[in-house]
Amino acid sequence: MNELPPLREVLAAAGIAADKRFGQHFLLDLNLCRKIVRLAGVATGDRVIEVGPGPGGLTRALVEAGATVTAVEKDPRFIPLLQDLAASAAGRLEVVEADALAVDEMSLAPGNDPIRVVANLPYNVGTPLLVKWLTGRFRPASMTLMFQKEVARRIVAAPGDPDYGRLAVLSQALCRGRVVMDLPARAFTPPPKVDSAVVDLTPLPHRPPDRTVQALQTVAQAAFGQRRKMLRSSLKPLGGEALCQAAGLDANVRAETVPVSGFLALAEAWLDRA
Ligand code: SAM
Repeated sequence: MNELPPLREVLAAAGIAADKRFGQHFLLDLNLCRKIVRLAGVATGDRVIEVGPGPGGLTRALVEAGATVTAVEKDPRFIPLLQDLAASAAGRLEVVEADALAVDEMSLAPGNDPIRVVANLPYNVGTPLLVKWLTGRFRPASMTLMFQKEVARRIVAAPGDPDYGRLAVLSQALCRGRVVMDLPARAFTPPPKVDSAVVDLTPLPHRPPDRTVQALQTVAQAAFGQRRKMLRSSLKPLGGEALCQAAGLDANVRAETVPVSGFLALAEAWLDRA
């Protein structure tokens, strides 16, 4: 990988300019890319799915670290550049042209090996992709993902924090999440309007059953849909006060103060009543 030309030259030679429609803000500093890969804990022999490799900075760092990478890119302009990278990756890089929102990750990386996801995500699809990986059939062994800072805060927010909401409840019911790196907008080419942060998510050892995860989304949506109201009122369509009582919660509190364990109790209570 060391003999490859700098990313800026690769982009210039291919005549590729960033396209806003694809949320393109590139990390061209390979040392930053290497740092993200270190923070992800990627080691020799790991299997990684990378979404949105673009010109391939993070991809190079992943291959350098010894990972076997499947890189899913929607913008066809990058495919030839990534194929060039694959040619010097000794069979450890597969490039797939696809929309990551629609792709079936299980068919991309068949077998039972644990698969990590590492990505500098396009801002416009970051949250739906995270929800897909949290709730879908594909269960990543870890996720190390760059988001706009505001979304990163919403993932790790604690009860009582203004950013605490549905995304925090769902993420924290299933994973331990930490912000491991902050990046200013100027770290990217072209710089976006907002700063970014990398969140590392590791699945909790005991995942609730799928039906509980679905019910959790339903109760969290209802509770945070009217976050200024007390649970007795925001959860009225799902059972209101009786539901709170069954979950062992005070119906006179607002969603923003209820811990993740309280939402899990609400989900279980709602399933019991249904
Ligand atoms: N990983 C590169 C880097 O760090 O320089 C590029 C990051 S850029 C923020 C997001 C990348 O995701 C772009 O290459 C963009 O074309 C790609 N992308 C956007 N939407 C996508 C989608 N739905 N599926 C797959 N890739 C997508």
